[in-house]
Amino acid sequence: MTEFVYESLPGRVVFGAGTVSRTPDEVAALGCSRVLVLTGPRQQADGERLSAELGSRSAGVFTEAAMHTPVEVTERAMAEVRRLGVDGTVAIGGGSTIGLGKAIAVRTDSPQVAVPTTYAGSEMTPVLGETSGGEKTTRRTLAVLPETVIYDVDLTMTLPADVSATSGVNAMARAVEALYAVNANPVTSMMAGESIRLLAAALPAIVDDPADAGARAGALRGSWLAAICLGTVGMALHHKLCHVLGGSFDLPHAPTHTVVLPHAIAYNAAAAPNAMSTVAGALGADDAATGVYDLLGRLGVRRSLAELGMPESAVDKAAEIALRQSYPNPAELDRNRIRRLLANAWAGRPPERATA
Ligand code: NAD
Repeated sequence: MTEFVYESLPGRVVFGAGTVSRTPDEVAALGCSRVLVLTGPRQQADGERLSAELGSRSAGVFTEAAMHTPVEVTERAMAEVRRLGVDGTVAIGGGSTIGLGKAIAVRTDSPQVAVPTTYAGSEMTPVLGETSGGEKTTRRTLAVLPETVIYDVDLTMTLPADVSATSGVNAMARAVEALYAVNANPVTSMMAGESIRLLAAALPAIVDDPADAGARAGALRGSWLAAICLGTVGMALHHKLCHVLGGSFDLPHAPTHTVVLPHAIAYNAAAAPNAMSTVAGALGADDAATGVYDLLGRLGVRRSLAELGMPESAVDKAAEIALRQSYPNPAELDRNRIRRLLANAWAGRPPERATA
């Protein structure tokens, strides 16, 4: 018998095509009468359109959302919140915009509606990362979890195919690690398996035809399920390695997750056989790690850290940093194996086959 603890997070999800038009009703249902619409500079038009649809319930639009939630931007937004007498926010955009909504919510305790337009997944997590003076701090509190999330497939149609591919594999990595998380449980695992299945089917179809509405719906649904996994269970070696590579060597976030995933799976394969058979089954492959590596080939994305700009000399240093802190992982953390994993990922070689 497997023992487990399962704790679900609160939240209302509206999913479909054209669902952004339901925002006024959702705002009203939260009891808000003066919301601030949040977005980034490149999505100003979306923000203004939504503000117009909200009519008298919109107090204005703030368009300065930026990557990694800089505190200076939040302070400027907070000045608008006070000046306009705002009683809630509607964030329309990617993880950066949703991060700003979370940062306002934790300071005001007012409700948030999130309308995500990428696969980043922040809308489903009670986690806020903020940057100040070049330092990033992260906190986990239910106060930052959006009350209502509106997924509108139509808003994702403009995400470029290559960004969709790596962002979708980044989402898949959460589902994979959820299957062997230290606090894995049957409910999250069910969502994780379905997420991998949906993403594996949708991403190649999007690369072939970015206007394929059915594939876009599958990718958004798969990303949503993966984001629930991220919000409810802990992550392991794969996320640790990507955090080190991104933080210490300034490698791009989603492409790094994409390169590392097959190798992290191979590392854990022998220690997490049930997770591996779920992953392989969801991919329709014989082997989980090779299945993901082949999927990346099909997507035409970069499969080596060298192509992302990492020097070979950084492999040793990355392995050393990754071993500095202990964290839960199904397979024991071994310097030589981690170094080999990174060397394979650096060179873009296929993942090593599992040895029991
Ligand atoms: P982003 O929000 O910065 O968006 C990237 C770019 O894509 C922006 O220029 C944006 O205007 C554009 N864009 C957004 N939607 C688009 C669309 N549909 N079509 C075309 N272009 C579009 O990036 P992101 O990857 O969505 O989010 C990254 C941020 O989210 C980071 O700050 C990261 O730390 C955070 N994040 C947080 C969590 C969490 O749980 N707290 C989880 C994941 C990501």
